[in-house]
Amino acid sequence: MNRKNHKYIFIIGGVMSGVGKGIAASSIGNILQARGFSINLIKIDPYLNVDAGTMNPTEHGEAFVLKDGLECDQDMGNYERFLDIDLTKEDYITSGMVYKSVIERERNLGYKGKCVEAIPHIRDEIIYRINKAAERNGSDISIIEIGGTIGDYQNIMFIEAARVLNVKKPNDVLFIMMSYLPIPKKLGEMKSKPTQNAVRLLNSYGVQPDIIIARSERLLDKKRKEKIAISCSVRTEYVISAPDIESIYDVPINFEKDNLGNIILKLLGYGKARKNTNLKKWRNFTSKSGKILAGKREVNIAIVGKYFDTGDFILSDAYISIIEALKFSSYEFGVKPLLHRLDSKEFDINKNKLKSLSKYDGILIPGGFGKDGVEGKLKVIQWARENKKPYFGICYGMQLAIIEYSRNVLGMKDANTSEINPKTKDAVIDIMPDQKKKLKENNYGGTMRLGSYEARLKEGTIARKAYGKNIIKERHRHRYEVNPEYIEKLSSGGMVFSGVSSDGKLMEIVELPPNKHPFFLSTQFHPEFQARPLCPHPLFTAFIKVCVKTIKSP
Ligand code: GLN
Repeated sequence: MNRKNHKYIFIIGGVMSGVGKGIAASSIGNILQARGFSINLIKIDPYLNVDAGTMNPTEHGEAFVLKDGLECDQDMGNYERFLDIDLTKEDYITSGMVYKSVIERERNLGYKGKCVEAIPHIRDEIIYRINKAAERNGSDISIIEIGGTIGDYQNIMFIEAARVLNVKKPNDVLFIMMSYLPIPKKLGEMKSKPTQNAVRLLNSYGVQPDIIIARSERLLDKKRKEKIAISCSVRTEYVISAPDIESIYDVPINFEKDNLGNIILKLLGYGKARKNTNLKKWRNFTSKSGKILAGKREVNIAIVGKYFDTGDFILSDAYISIIEALKFSSYEFGVKPLLHRLDSKEFDINKNKLKSLSKYDGILIPGGFGKDGVEGKLKVIQWARENKKPYFGICYGMQLAIIEYSRNVLGMKDANTSEINPKTKDAVIDIMPDQKKKLKENNYGGTMRLGSYEARLKEGTIARKAYGKNIIKERHRHRYEVNPEYIEKLSSGGMVFSGVSSDGKLMEIVELPPNKHPFFLSTQFHPEFQARPLCPHPLFTAFIKVCVKTIKSP
């Protein structure tokens, strides 16, 4: 591949965070990919953590895990879902990674006695990483989302790297500013001043945006577009309207309404705009899901987890990958998923609350860590098992299902995970010896089983039927495993281990036979990371299928 022709699109946030830069980056990727270009997407997170693994989910939501095991930001999940591609660790850059490698190189005399400084060394390391990701992906275009907002101190070095790249390759770099236009209630008018100021600030760093994507509650009118164009030195047709919409998956289609795909190609010098080849599948998906969302058939799923609040607000992107996976599979059956976030602690405090679970069509317990809310989750699992309510457990949700079964069916009253009670008599969930060693050395960053691993499925099981094949690959993020010493007892007691690691040692999926329960299935891995809009995950689909069976037509 001729690297000389490689193109770069930088997406920089103006005004404030949370206006959908990640979705914009994904959607731009989607429409360019549909024109036959090979795209790679890079997320830059300006924090000093090397990856998202050691960060509390209250900070940035749940971590997303790539197939190679990197723990990263949820935006990477959006990229994978919108483009139906698997990303790798090269596609994620944090300040922590950049500084770590520069400092390590300095310690190893890699700079041959030079004074090592942010400019040029940190900046050049950023450029090197961006190019390495493009090379590894062999892509035509890199879309790089710079985290944070213009004016943050943390992302200055990344904007500087983008500026320098543009100086070196002026015809190959495009800057898109993602902005926000508020409509203050009392004024009732859409205001463009914050966008003007954000662009001015970006200009002061030596960067002029080529395109401005203007997010707002409503579509931008001509007047507003013209105002932004004249004050920000951008052509009117390069001001793209990004109104609030029901589904994020409609964003690529909305961008196309403003001709964004062709504008980008023109600005990148691709000449005659390529035909939009296969946005067709995507359009089918969004129009189908749009109809379902407007319709009346619904499936009610309770997600029993740990919910965090930030001040007076609940973190909205907790379990985001699970929520998306449930949506894709629900659309397969023409039902609108109504997802109910239930705090597991409430079931611990109030036993009567369990009865309220009967109104849901299915229950899902996602991954988690530590002892908070665990007793409540165990009660919910017991209730779902005894009342034959479809139950889908993911990671911690599987470990707790094993504990519940051990306690209440197999009579091991003290059964537990050593994560909660290291001295328990029956540690049915335990840490594996090599992980134990790392934990002792306080090496928390490296103590998890992370990324994609192969598993074998057992003939005749729900899992085997759902996947339709014998060997699967799924992504992991956990320290503990089903204790091999208890597998015999659990199996003879009625649990079916329908998925095991290829060496046969680690239990990957556990289920109850259909004659005992309509759907009681849990996975040690996180299937949600591989669910895609155009390719829903088979286990989520199997779960929803059973949930839908019980619902009555409206
Ligand atoms: N806390 C459990 C473990 O570390 C489960 C992790 C998870 O649910 N992701 O094994």
